[in-house]
Amino acid sequence: MDFDYSPKVEELRSRVAAFMDRYIVPQIPEWERLTAAGDAHPSFMEDLKALARDEGLWNLFLPGLHADEPGQALTNLEYAPLAEIMGRVVWASEVFNCSAPDTGNMEILHLFATPEQRERWLVPLLEGRIRSCFAMTEPDVASSDATNIQTSIRREGDEYVINGRKWFISGAAHPHCRFAIVMGVTDPEAETHRRQSMIIVPMDAAGLSVTRNIPVMHHTTPEGHCELVLRDVRVPATHLLHAQGAGFAIAQARLGPGRIHHCMRSIGQCELALELMCERAAERQAFGRYLHQHANIGDWIARSRIEIDQARLLVLKAAWLIDRHGVKAAAREVAMIKALVPGVQTAVCDRAIQVHGAMGLSPDTPLASLWMWGRILRLADGPDEVHLRSVTRLEMKASEERRRGRLGPPR
Ligand SMILES: Cc1cc2nc3c(=O)[nH]c(=O)nc-3n(C[C@H](O)[C@H](O)[C@H](O)COP(=O)(O)OP(=O)(O)OC[C@H]3O[C@@H](n4cnc5c(N)ncnc54)[C@H](O)[C@@H]3O)c2cc1C
Repeated sequence: MDFDYSPKVEELRSRVAAFMDRYIVPQIPEWERLTAAGDAHPSFMEDLKALARDEGLWNLFLPGLHADEPGQALTNLEYAPLAEIMGRVVWASEVFNCSAPDTGNMEILHLFATPEQRERWLVPLLEGRIRSCFAMTEPDVASSDATNIQTSIRREGDEYVINGRKWFISGAAHPHCRFAIVMGVTDPEAETHRRQSMIIVPMDAAGLSVTRNIPVMHHTTPEGHCELVLRDVRVPATHLLHAQGAGFAIAQARLGPGRIHHCMRSIGQCELALELMCERAAERQAFGRYLHQHANIGDWIARSRIEIDQARLLVLKAAWLIDRHGVKAAAREVAMIKALVPGVQTAVCDRAIQVHGAMGLSPDTPLASLWMWGRILRLADGPDEVHLRSVTRLEMKASEERRRGRLGPPR
C-alpha cells in the first residue's frame, strides 16, 4: 500500500495551488460583491478560464478524455487531491471547467452521446463555452427514491413530449446554461428500474420555464437552485440519451465520480476551517490562556484532524476502487463517503465557528458558508439516510456471503 501521491500528482497539486493563490483568491472580494448583486457570471470568470486552459489545468476530472479533447485524462485517484485544493474556494472549480453539474453531464455525454449529441452539447461543454443542469428532483414526490419520479416523457412520432415539474435544479439560472438533462418516465408499465429515461432538453425549448430561484438557508445564489416547469415541451427523439428505459443505468454511471469530487471539495473546505480554527486558537486569549490551551478546544482541534484524515483516506480508497474495478465495485465505498464527509464538514466547521465567537457567524470568515455547504450536502445528491441504507444492504449481503464461506474477511 502506497500512501504517496505520484510525482505527476504532486506537480499538478503545486500548479493548481499556485494558480489558486495567484489568480483566484485575490478575486474573492469581487466575487462576493458581484454575486451579492445578482451577477451569476462575473466578468473576470472568462479570463480566469482562459488562463487555466492555457496552463493545461482544464477538464481534469474525466479519465476517459480522448486525445483530441481539451484537458488532461487523469484518473479519479489523480484528480481527487486537485478537487480538494479547488474546494477551498466554493466557485473555483468552474475556472478549471471542473464544476458540478457540468462534470456529471460531461461524463454522461462522454459515455452515452451519439455523434450528433456530442457535437451539439458535449464539445461546447468541454470547451467551457456553455453550461448545463441536471433535472431529477420533483416537488410532489420523495425524490430520494428516484423510482417515484413522475415527469412524463412520451413518444409521439419523431418527438418526445415532456410534462412535469422539477425543483432545486442547480445552475439552471446561469446565463450560459443551454440545456438540462431531464429524468422522467417513458415506460410506465415496465419493470421498476426500466421505466425512466434521460433526455436532453434545450433551455430555450418552448414550454420550459424557470419559475423560481429557490433560496437555500435564506441564501440565494445567482446561478440558482431553480424550479422548472415543463409543459408540453417537444424535443426530437434524437435527444434521448442512450436508450429508452436506461435512466437508472445512466444515473448509476454518473454518480460515483461526482461523489468523489463533492467529498474531496468538502475535505478541502474542512482543511481551511481547521487552519482558521488553529490560527484563532493560537492568537486569542480567554481566562488567562490561549484558546487552544483550554482542554475542550484542544480536543476539537485533534478530533478535527483525525476526522478529516479518516475521511480523506476513505474517499481516496473509493476513487482507487472506481479506477481499478469500476463504479459498481465501488458502490459501498461511494455510499460510505457520501454518508460520512458532509457530517465531518458540518462538525469541523461548527467547532471552527465556535472558536471564532460571534465573528464565526459573520461574513468576515468563510466558516458560516462552509458549514452551509456541508449541511446542503447532507441532502443534495441524496440524503444521508439513503446512503446509509445502501451501506447496510451491502454489508448484510457480505455478511451472508461470509457465513456461507463464499467471501473472505473484510478489507
Ligand atoms: C442545494 C441543493 C441543490 C440540489 N441540486 C439538485 C440538482 O441539481 N438536480 C436535482 O435533480 N436535484 C437537486 N437537489 C435535490 C436533492 O438531490 C434532493 O433534495 C434529495 O435527493 C432528497 O430528495 P427530496 O428533497 O425529495 O427528499 P425526500 O425524498 O422527500 O426525503 C426526505 C427525507 O426522508 C428521509 N428518508 C428518505 N429515504 C429514507 C430512507 N430510506 N430511510 C430513512 N429515511 C429516509 C431522509 O431524512 C430525507 O431527507 C438539490 C438539493 C439541494 C438542497
